[in-house]
Formats: sequence, C-alpha cells, structure tokens
Amino acid sequence: MRLPFHFVVDPQGWICVGLIVFIWLYNTLFIPKLILFPRFEEGHVSAAAIWAYYLSSLLCVISLLRASTADPGKLPESPKIPLSERDQWELCNKCNLMRPKRSHHCSRCGHCVRKMDHHCPWINNCVGEDNHWLFLQLCFYTQVLSGYTLVLDFCHYYYFLPLRSKNWDLFVFKHELALLRMSTIMGLLLFFGMCGLFYSQLVGIITDTTTIEKMSNCCEGISRARKPWQQTFSEVFGTRWKILWFVPFRQRRPLSASNHCASHV
Ligand SMILES: [Zn+2]
Ligand SMILES: [Zn+2]
Repeated sequence: MRLPFHFVVDPQGWICVGLIVFIWLYNTLFIPKLILFPRFEEGHVSAAAIWAYYLSSLLCVISLLRASTADPGKLPESPKIPLSERDQWELCNKCNLMRPKRSHHCSRCGHCVRKMDHHCPWINNCVGEDNHWLFLQLCFYTQVLSGYTLVLDFCHYYYFLPLRSKNWDLFVFKHELALLRMSTIMGLLLFFGMCGLFYSQLVGIITDTTTIEKMSNCCEGISRARKPWQQTFSEVFGTRWKILWFVPFRQRRPLSASNHCASHV
C-alpha cells in the first residue's frame, strides 16, 4: 500500500527527529510558563507577544512535519523517459534504475532522488528537487523561533524588571536558572546553525550547485552552463507565487511538467 506521505524507516533518523521535537517541545512549554505568562500578568509584555511565540512555534513544527514527510523526488521503478531527454538519463549502478542526471542514490533511504541536495538526519529525509523549498522553510522558521527565544531569555534577565510575584513552589520557578540556561544553549546552537545553513543553501540555489556537488567537487556541476538565478529559484520554489515560499500551506508548482512525468507512472 502506498502511503499518502513519504516515511523513511531509519531508527537513527528517528532519534535525530526525536531530539529536534524534544527541543521544540521544551521551549514551547517552558518559555511561556517561565517568561511570557508571568510577565504578561505584571504588564511587562502584551498578549501579542504570547500569540507571536505560539504562532512561530506552530509554523516551526508544521514545516518540520512537511519537510520530514514530503517526497523529496523519489524515482519510480519504471519511469517514462521523454524522447527528447534520453541522453539526459543514466543508469544507477546501485538500484539498477534509470534516473535523470544530477540525481543521486541515497544509501540511507535506499533509492535515487532527483537533484538530491543531501540526506538530512534531523528531518530523517532526503532533501531533493521536490522538498528543497520545504527544507528552506524549516530553516527559516527555526531561525525565527530560536531567535525569538534568545531575545526573551536575554530580556528576562537583563532588560525586564524582576518579577514581583513568583510561586516558588512551582517546578519551573524552583529550577528557573537551569531551565533558562538550557533554553539559551539550544537557542544559540539552533539559531547560528540555521543561519549558516540557510545562507549556504541560498548560495547553492543561486549558483545552481547542490551540497553533494559542492562536497564532491563534481566536474559535471562546474562545467554546466550556469543558469540565471531567477530560473534556479523557480526550480526550487515553483513557478507561481514563489515570493510566498514561506507560507506553510502553499503548494509548489514545478517549473516544468516534464520534470515530473517520471513520477506519474
Ligand atoms: Zn539508485
Ligand atoms: Zn536519503
């Protein structure tokens, strides 16, 4: 039975995704309880700050779910290769299936992926032609959420007035310092990690080079005629409304129907 979503059976990947979900859950639970709600009660922050935190948290987890369960561009077993593209296809020596050039065989997923960028253990999925934009969306919302968390952690100690009424019997206030230190460490790692990743991914899209090609110094990638950045952006984000790439429920329309004919068999 074919599942309506893509699911990679890899226990190591499940552990990595579990860790990311733990970090998300930790901050989504403790930051409002420790900072936002008490500060709202004492008039230090508005209700909009609480709503904004929960909204960025929701967008972050939706983009994680979508990037993890989206088909990255798996090649079907018997693809229909358009006559005009015959010379653009080659045989994979691992799965013995035909694939377009610039596809790559992922040993963790066990199949070939069109224009594979890399396999990301943190989403337990490949990043390829069809979910690259969802991966960028996840990087973006993780930066927003971790950046917001860091601002709140900083303001709690160095900017806002001390809280007047704290219920010291509550677990969160008894262990406030340790809980917020953990949150700050997670926030720093994720924020700077995601900033670097997001920037390198954008450079990769502009220069039309995947992470695998960069790492292997693929000669083919270097000798290819460079496409204009507008075209490479359309290939990643789709042809319609690509300026709204960050909208979580948007559907991507591929640049060319022929790119996808292989998957509709
Ligand atoms: Zn293969
Ligand atoms: Zn993979």
